[in-house]
Amino acid sequence: MSGAEELLRSKGLRVTRPRLAVLDVLDGGGHLEVDEITRRVRERLDSVSTQAVYDVLGALSRAGLSRRIEPAGSPARYEARVGDNHHHVVCRGCGEIADIDCAVGSAPCLEPSVSHGFEVDEAEVTFWGLCPGCRARRSADVRPPDVRPADVRPADV
Ligand SMILES: [Zn+2]
Ligand SMILES: [Zn+2]
Ligand SMILES: [Zn+2]
Repeated sequence: MSGAEELLRSKGLRVTRPRLAVLDVLDGGGHLEVDEITRRVRERLDSVSTQAVYDVLGALSRAGLSRRIEPAGSPARYEARVGDNHHHVVCRGCGEIADIDCAVGSAPCLEPSVSHGFEVDEAEVTFWGLCPGCRARRSADVRPPDVRPADVRPADV
């Protein structure tokens, strides 16, 4: 039994090929949009619908095997790094996301100045700024390209 199979079973989830494929994709690291996850899953499995990938991501997130983040103005992204209460820095220019370790390590890592009687269990911290690429473009006064060329290979043009 692979580690991924064990992981699914330990959370009471049935082991299916789409679930294994999505876990494998997330395991590669990063903060991936559903479209990107679907594309990579299809490199591993013949036919998987986008809806099936959404369903798998929902099940994995509810089981605590993946984490869903949704910075304002950007589509939801998923990652395999869970359980460490890490935070994110998001680029205002291109939407790139990087991990930032939580200095405290467990939620909530910030105490509210006033709790209004709430039992606070999490502080959702998102840092915003400009990534190195966008800073370089800004200082060169060049606008970022409107189309991200990542999916266009020379042979496709
Ligand atoms: Zn950027
Ligand atoms: Zn992250
Ligand atoms: Zn923190």
